Amino acid sequence: DSSLKSSSYSFLPTTISAEDDGSIINLDHGDPTMYERYWQQMGDKTTVVISGWQLISYFSDIRKICWFLESEFANAVIRLHKQVGNALTEGRHIVVGTGSTQLFQAVLYALCPDNASEPMNVVSAAPFYSSYPLMTDYLKSGLYKWAGDAYKFRKDKPYIELVTSPNNPDGSSRKAVVNRNQGMLVHDLAYYWPQYTPISIPADHDIMLFTVSKSTGHAGTRLGWALVKDQEIAKRMTKFIELNTIGVSKDSQIRAAKILHHVADSIDHGPEYQETDNFFEFGYSLMAKRWTQLRAAVNRSNIFSLPSFPSGTCSFSGHTFESQPAFAWLKCEGEIEDCESFLRSHKILTRGGKHFGVGAEYVRISMMDRDGIFDRFAERLSTINSQVS
Ligand code: PMP
Repeated sequence: DSSLKSSSYSFLPTTISAEDDGSIINLDHGDPTMYERYWQQMGDKTTVVISGWQLISYFSDIRKICWFLESEFANAVIRLHKQVGNALTEGRHIVVGTGSTQLFQAVLYALCPDNASEPMNVVSAAPFYSSYPLMTDYLKSGLYKWAGDAYKFRKDKPYIELVTSPNNPDGSSRKAVVNRNQGMLVHDLAYYWPQYTPISIPADHDIMLFTVSKSTGHAGTRLGWALVKDQEIAKRMTKFIELNTIGVSKDSQIRAAKILHHVADSIDHGPEYQETDNFFEFGYSLMAKRWTQLRAAVNRSNIFSLPSFPSGTCSFSGHTFESQPAFAWLKCEGEIEDCESFLRSHKILTRGGKHFGVGAEYVRISMMDRDGIFDRFAERLSTINSQVS
């Protein structure tokens, strides 16, 4: 399976020590450090102090299905979804996870019957998030297996389809593509936030995954949440997390609750907040600026191209705009067959199309790095253009 050739792939930044004179620009990962500046500007508004005696227990509320879910975090999640209007929370169970990465695995476990004669097929439309095949197969589970590109799935067998919208890597808005009887859908909505795409309607799916990594930028807090309609599925996901890590860090949940409440407060615009504190406005403006910079560099070239997106009016912000995704899905046109190697020769590190189940003419570039890095990248891309043309 070509998608698994990437299993040698390491999450750690590529070691470049000897040859790196500081000129290498690494945009391989989606590390959301662009948000650091906003949170610095907010100073102590989101500082959390936890005393040694607090949050000692494994348990949060044993009457709840997700017994390790801190109610403060759950309340913040519900408040923010209501305010942004990007997902329905009514009649759903919240399951908290160590990043949506853990929830992804909990979902697979929860959706697979434990007495099936063969592993469940797991598919997603290419280009798909490069971690899906790796996370699905690394433990060689008997419960499920990666079955590749959803567009090519022909088996008359039960399957799980991962629907990522907006999509990582290409930013497109997506719907399920297989649409057969025995299918179960998991919607990964990590990027369905108003800095990246116009919010059209509140998402209303059976299983939806979200994460603070891409909403507020707190990837290091390692916190995600699932909104789950079916009680039995929520129970089984909780069971997985119990077996996997006996719950999820309460320290992280309390910090994330503080962060999410701040985001909501910054929009509500209480007396302590100014208009410029609005978190999603900060993200929206910065992404708009970066996409303008990138498109300007690419438009001057005859070797690169970028996807275009339909324009929409965001029901949350009122802005009319085209999606400005967290990643740029760049295509090398013409004679350059391996876009990742080509850019590496110009000391720009990206992730090649093969990792996402498509050809090497594509690369994914993170748009979420710190200002200085992004500016250097846009500038360098412009110079590559002028050398070639
Ligand atoms: N889903 C998608 C589509 C992602 O892009 C990412 C982060 N790259 C994740 C899930 C994982 O997020 P987390 O940091 O919450 O584990």
